[in-house]
Amino acid sequence: MALHPNTVPHARRTRRLRSTTTSRRRLVATSLAAAALLASGGIASAATGEVAQASTETGVSLSTPPQFLQVTRPVPVDYAEQLQRAAQREVERLAFEKAEVERLAREAAEQAARAAAAAEAARRPAVLVPADGTFTSGFGPRWGTNHNGIDIANSIGTPIKAVTNGTVIETGPASGFGLWVRIQQDDGTTGVYGHIDQSLVSVGQQVRAGDQIATMGNRGQSTGPHLHYEVWAVNGTKMDPAGWFQSRGVPVPQGQG
Ligand SMILES: [Zn+2]
Repeated sequence: MALHPNTVPHARRTRRLRSTTTSRRRLVATSLAAAALLASGGIASAATGEVAQASTETGVSLSTPPQFLQVTRPVPVDYAEQLQRAAQREVERLAFEKAEVERLAREAAEQAARAAAAAEAARRPAVLVPADGTFTSGFGPRWGTNHNGIDIANSIGTPIKAVTNGTVIETGPASGFGLWVRIQQDDGTTGVYGHIDQSLVSVGQQVRAGDQIATMGNRGQSTGPHLHYEVWAVNGTKMDPAGWFQSRGVPVPQGQG
């Protein structure tokens, strides 16, 4: 059976009408919902929710508290106080700069002193002969006994120098030596300086090779102004100073009597 020509348009119109009615209902419902949201302040919540969701997508933790700009209330301007603060800051800055300049100068001076000390140490030999003069006697038998050191003759007052770095262990009168100085030397041996006129050191004093420790004299059993120098091994044995010097690269005359 064929449909009436009007049937289709009518049916279409009916659907169109029904459709329109549904749209209107939806519109009304949406408007009512929006009004309700507005009335309850829900729009703000919904907006916050959207922002939070967006932030989550960009990797910002939701636990991060919201950041607010710190807006300080305007403070009444005290111009004199501002000037005073500025002046104080300037004073502090200048003091800091002055301290910095002083610190740098101090460091430079210390560095120069270290360099000078190192240069002097490099120049200074580790071992040297204790006095200028003439080698008049060596280590060995002499006059029916043993001569336990070497003799260097010169005038009274001639400087006597420490042979090595060391520590003064005795200074004062000694039988036969008149007046002596004994120094613990850098290799553990003891250096003995006899017949001295004056001691210039005290017990416990640290000395370096070449430091003047005494003046040459003629005290004790001495036949003329000279230095009598001995080297005692750690066990007390008296060594030939010439051989000891030789072993340390310092040649001195070696001889008997
Ligand atoms: Zn002697």
